[in-house]
Amino acid sequence: MADIVNLFEVEPGQKLRLYSEATAEVVSNPRDGVWLFVRYLTSPEDPDQVNISGGAPPAVPEADDILAALRAGYRSIDEGYGFYPGFDGWLASLGYQRREDIPCTCPDRGYRGHLPECRWVR
Ligand SMILES: [Zn+2]
Repeated sequence: MADIVNLFEVEPGQKLRLYSEATAEVVSNPRDGVWLFVRYLTSPEDPDQVNISGGAPPAVPEADDILAALRAGYRSIDEGYGFYPGFDGWLASLGYQRREDIPCTCPDRGYRGHLPECRWVR
């Protein structure tokens, strides 16, 4: 990626590094020298910007998987390890992973606080 970008020459699909170390892919260029339409690929300072447009959203756990993970979490508590080792371990065993680089996946976007399965996707 070049340090200086001529906005008239940027092509869709090209990847750019923006301020604050964010990276983005050009979706379209109206070639007015001012605007570029991009989707964020990474955004360390504001992860909520990633995947706002374009790209298939990652799959959140199914209701049955969450229920089983909750039970595994409660078993883990009973065994003295606390909730999350069981809960997280169960989702990980199903191929999910908790990602810090994507927006909140709670149905209410975290309005009432985040669910244990927040940001777990595969
Ligand atoms: Zn959340």
